[in-house]
Amino acid sequence: KGRLEFCDVSFAYPTRKEAPIFQNLSLLVPAGSIMAVVGPSGSGKSTLVSLLLRLYDPDTGVITIDGHDIRDLNPYWLRGLIGTVNQEPVLFSCSIRDNIAYGAVDPDAVTTEDIHQAARDANAYGFIQTFPKGFDTVVGEKGVLLSGGQKQRIAIARALLKNPKILLLDEATSALDAENEFLVQEALERLMEGRTVLIIAHRLSTIQNANAVAVLDQRHIAECGQHTELLGNREGLFRRL
Ligand code: ADP
Ligand code: ADP
Repeated sequence: KGRLEFCDVSFAYPTRKEAPIFQNLSLLVPAGSIMAVVGPSGSGKSTLVSLLLRLYDPDTGVITIDGHDIRDLNPYWLRGLIGTVNQEPVLFSCSIRDNIAYGAVDPDAVTTEDIHQAARDANAYGFIQTFPKGFDTVVGEKGVLLSGGQKQRIAIARALLKNPKILLLDEATSALDAENEFLVQEALERLMEGRTVLIIAHRLSTIQNANAVAVLDQRHIAECGQHTELLGNREGLFRRL
């Protein structure tokens, strides 16, 4: 399960009603599939994510998960259904253990073994005893400076612990050192397995791994298909990246 569908969605930001972002946008992400969304800057990729997370609701149309309008779902339930990993991971100035536990809908119900398992699967177990450093707050003598790839793996462990049906990957920036890239990639693959994945794609490599690519343009999904089909088209998929 985890079928995600945008049905005839229209949306304009309340402050800019004259400039709609989406008009009758429809997109189906079948359960367990990987959909990459590409589109030029300003085409609405972030807005699509905001609607899914219910920072805003569509003006008309519905977004459904397994046939249920997300507006009818309990917000905590919705939060549990959707996991996110951004390329700019947000970590808090607390132990890495607590940073991972934050992913759980009910952190109090999380056991140490759950956290260790998530950390192992995310290739983050080796530094679970450390504290993140380099944020706004001082963390004390145990503090270590984490690399971008390590922070990423903590974010992945957090998402693994949540065990969401739907995974949102926003690859806005991808400044990973080559040394870490394999470990992050492996962790991400474990996280994606068996879930419905929506990738806001900025790199061609992720598009190749997706089951389908949706091209966002002119207030709706202009095209949707396998990347090999889209590569042949006149507009050129590359220019959308
Ligand atoms: P980006 O390519 O980073 O999305 P944008 O220019 O589309 O750049 O938007 C940058 C940020 O500014 C957005 O995330 C949004 O929160 C905010 N923003 C953009 N346009 C407006 C606006 N008209 N009113 C309020 N906030 C806006
Ligand atoms: P993308 O992620 O594809 O770059 P966005 O979803 O960030 O596109 O933005 C789509 C359009 O919505 C842009 O024209 C942007 O300026 C506008 N926009 C984004 N956020 C806001 C906001 N909070 N209020 C008004 N306009 C916004």
